[in-house]
Amino acid sequence: MSIEFTTCQYAVDALDRLVWVDRWWLAFAKENDAGGLAESTVVGRPLWEFISDPATRDVYKEIHRYVRTAGLALVVPFRCDSPSMERRISLTVSSDGSGHVLYESILVRARRHRVSLLDPRLPRSQSELRMCSFCKRVQTDAGRWIEFDELDEQFPEAASPPFPQLTYRVCEDCFAEMRTVCGGYVGLASDRDSR
Ligand SMILES: [Zn+2]
Repeated sequence: MSIEFTTCQYAVDALDRLVWVDRWWLAFAKENDAGGLAESTVVGRPLWEFISDPATRDVYKEIHRYVRTAGLALVVPFRCDSPSMERRISLTVSSDGSGHVLYESILVRARRHRVSLLDPRLPRSQSELRMCSFCKRVQTDAGRWIEFDELDEQFPEAASPPFPQLTYRVCEDCFAEMRTVCGGYVGLASDRDSR
């Protein structure tokens, strides 16, 4: 089932623990993770438990550092597709001065699609496919980042189960974008061996 939403909010405390999440965050997390989540089991847990890729965690940690020390809000373009919906989101991250960090996302564009590869409930093979956490493009063996539309041509194995396992990275373009929105402040570990 696809969840329609236009905004999503959550916040973390000075130690990056979730202090509250709204129902859309829970709905989205449920849609993208086969595990059951409820506000009572999420609040108090570090945000980092919900971000599996170390490089993606690093980006968010730098964003937290930036908004807390610079006191400025950041707007990050973001894509968070589900198996049935393409979603383009504008994510605003800000701090209230007490160390809390607030996330507010606004849905910029949505359209129906069918990308079974994104359905965590479907069987997986041992092979892996690298996906960017932010723009959701997939990396070819040659290092090129491609959109879902090109998947069938580049990765026939991604068209039917068992699907390759998705491992997350941050692509060069999204690293560059993050540097731009952070005004050059961000000292990202941009040359990780994972990229
Ligand atoms: Zn990207």
